[in-house]
Amino acid sequence: MTRGPVESVLETVGNTPLVRVEAAPEEVPVYAKLESFNPGASVKDRIGAYICEQLIERGELEEGGTIVEPTAGNTGIGLAIAANQLDLEAVFVVPERFSVEKQTLMRALGAEVVNTPTEDAMGGAIERAREIADGREDAVVPQQFANPLNVEAHERTTGPEIYDALDGEVGAVVVGCGTCGTLVGVARYVLEREPDVHVVAVEPEGSVFARALGADVDEDEYTIEGIGTHELERNELFDPEVVDEVLQVGDRAAHDELQRLAREEGHLVASSSGAASVGARRVAERIRDGDLDVPHDAVATVFPDSSERYLSKHIYGDFEDWQP
Ligand code: PMP
Repeated sequence: MTRGPVESVLETVGNTPLVRVEAAPEEVPVYAKLESFNPGASVKDRIGAYICEQLIERGELEEGGTIVEPTAGNTGIGLAIAANQLDLEAVFVVPERFSVEKQTLMRALGAEVVNTPTEDAMGGAIERAREIADGREDAVVPQQFANPLNVEAHERTTGPEIYDALDGEVGAVVVGCGTCGTLVGVARYVLEREPDVHVVAVEPEGSVFARALGADVDEDEYTIEGIGTHELERNELFDPEVVDEVLQVGDRAAHDELQRLAREEGHLVASSSGAASVGARRVAERIRDGDLDVPHDAVATVFPDSSERYLSKHIYGDFEDWQP
């Protein structure tokens, strides 16, 4: 799509390309939304822009106000870009162990980064974020894991973009789940137009979203970054009403696939994209083999970010050297 010049980088959020995954079955194509095309190079730019704009519109934040968010990653970068362009202050509370690359990018965008002890985990970061917000005049903690604006951002942008690009011919939506904002938002938009679309949440083996649908899965560590949960009660946006199935993908399968996507298809994507691709291809194969009935023979997925952010974790090395 060609477009004329725009006034702010914020206007370049969204409208990312949808590209066919070549290795998927001929008869049931898989299409992946390439979210690294956003200005902060991830799907989280969408919620950064949407949440800040909505908080301002609703009068919950004024110019000069502060966004305080406990986040270790892409959400901080997305919110920092929006804050930068909307004249807001941004403070991110990050447990120490998280990757310095992302913290460097947040600071470069003008945000303040506050570290909390690794042993206090995300719970400690959330608590600290609340304290910081309480100590400021005009501050809001959006809390992406519990904020309906996260889902709404995708219901208003990612969902329609996918649906329109495929002329409504979507049979299944197969998307990785972290906060589940992307999956639930896309699914809600598509289901409203085609109630029989099959909706699949992808999580790493070792994550426990599947328990929300009654499956008995073991909890374990995993290396795939950006999706999965060990604390189901914190993931308030996972909606069992819209999710038909939770599909688990192992670290090794996701790692093999992200390297295959680079080598064979020219995609520089990270581990949550590898997992999404494996999940979407499995669902497409079941549709092709007649094991799953869907209204259209096409599967939509999302590749949330790029591999460049994880090079120091040896994402392109041997599986054994790949670091969490
Ligand atoms: N992949 C990556 C790399 C992410 O940063 C995130 C966000 N946590 C996701 C996938 C999952 O997106 P969501 O939070 O919308 O479920």
